[in-house]
Amino acid sequence: MVRTRFAPSPTGYLHIGGLRTALYAYLFAKKNNGKFILRIEDTDLERYVPGAVEIICRTLKDAGLTYDEGPDVGGDCGPYMQSERKDLYMKYAKQLIDSGDAYYCFCTKERLEQLHKDGAVKYDKHCMHIPREEAEKRIAAGEKYVIRQNIPEQGSDTYTDLVFGDITVDYKELEDNILIKSDGMPTYNFANVIDDYLMGIDYVIRGIEYLSSTPKYNLLYRALGWRLPKYIHLQPIMRDERHKLSKRYGDASYEDFIKKGYLKEAIVNYIALLGWSGKNDTEKFTLAQLEEAFDLEGLSKSPSVFDENKMRWLNSLYIRELDEETFHKMALPFYEKTERLKGYDLRFLSSLLHSRCEVLTDVDRLTVFLDEFDGYDLTLFENKKWKTDGDFALKIIPALKEALKAEDLHAALEKVADNGGYKKGQVLWVFRIAITGNAVTPGGATEMAKLLGRDKCMERLCESEKRLQAR
Ligand code: GLU
Repeated sequence: MVRTRFAPSPTGYLHIGGLRTALYAYLFAKKNNGKFILRIEDTDLERYVPGAVEIICRTLKDAGLTYDEGPDVGGDCGPYMQSERKDLYMKYAKQLIDSGDAYYCFCTKERLEQLHKDGAVKYDKHCMHIPREEAEKRIAAGEKYVIRQNIPEQGSDTYTDLVFGDITVDYKELEDNILIKSDGMPTYNFANVIDDYLMGIDYVIRGIEYLSSTPKYNLLYRALGWRLPKYIHLQPIMRDERHKLSKRYGDASYEDFIKKGYLKEAIVNYIALLGWSGKNDTEKFTLAQLEEAFDLEGLSKSPSVFDENKMRWLNSLYIRELDEETFHKMALPFYEKTERLKGYDLRFLSSLLHSRCEVLTDVDRLTVFLDEFDGYDLTLFENKKWKTDGDFALKIIPALKEALKAEDLHAALEKVADNGGYKKGQVLWVFRIAITGNAVTPGGATEMAKLLGRDKCMERLCESEKRLQAR
């Protein structure tokens, strides 16, 4: 049975890179009828951000990445919070000390700093030579200690990464990293091995930053007599060619994108493409389709660049697919945030905006004309196609005001054209500019009139007329 996991540290919002790792682990499990597990790696107390675990759980569920086991849903391999597994790590650390694969270390911060100043690039195994009995006495006497991994001085490890192929690392390049810190907590370097094994994880899917430290973990698996998992390392997502997408640059988290008016389906779809592609050119995938289509062969060996325009485009496709009612419901919270929309017929507005929004926050951009009217640029009346200009507008505005009183506005505007010997388009152009002050509006002349209401239209026609006279 395939078991994969997502193992985030609770350090804040779930950003796009983290969500992508989770998505691939989820998809690989689903594709293989396996299980997807959420484990919270909260052993670094200094980086812990309160509330972050809730955000992670909430985001995964909201995005549809349902985990089969995890801190809030339980499972047979819990607890799923590393901080609650503290005693367990110590047990295995002691086993490694027994076999000579780890040792107690008492070096002070000052000694380590000195070592570094003297040019050492890694820890010098100083404490490895302390006899076990003496070390235990010092610990019993209350001396502070850590436990370090004992990396062989000779040799190398080769393992196969399912994306990058064979990876060989010389042990000389590896350091005797700390496995258990002085506060008794394990480091990532230790806990990932213990937990991945005890949780039955057979495919480890994680960021490329762990590619070259994996041989250290392999040493631990072997020392404990455990089978090795298979590894899938993922290239980073870049902000541009040189910079990684990272929280530090203020790049968005899942929840930020939701706030910006992206649909979760579109976010999930887009991030699936940041490092994976299907067998044909298809780019639009629902989560269910991804569960079918996902494969390791499609994973990219090179980094991908986050392109918000592309995500907007995908989002617009998902918005178009919504039925009118759903679009309206989803747009409502965004209308509520847009002060100027108070009092307008929002259902009617939805029918206009549905085909024009790329993201739901576009409801703001697309309705600016509702309160920005004074001082619009009068040259907007100049239209080459329709051969209209300010003089023409001024000439027909009285007729437009009359037409506005008619029951059927559209027919009345057509009549204005017929009576004057103009083209319909000329009249509609002038009318639309005169009531909106905008060349681009989320609908045609009569739709804009319906939205604004007759009184407002009359007011604006008069205002436009005055401004044209005053030119
Ligand atoms: N806690 C690690 C991180 O957030 C997890 C890496 C892994 O998936 O093994 O980077």
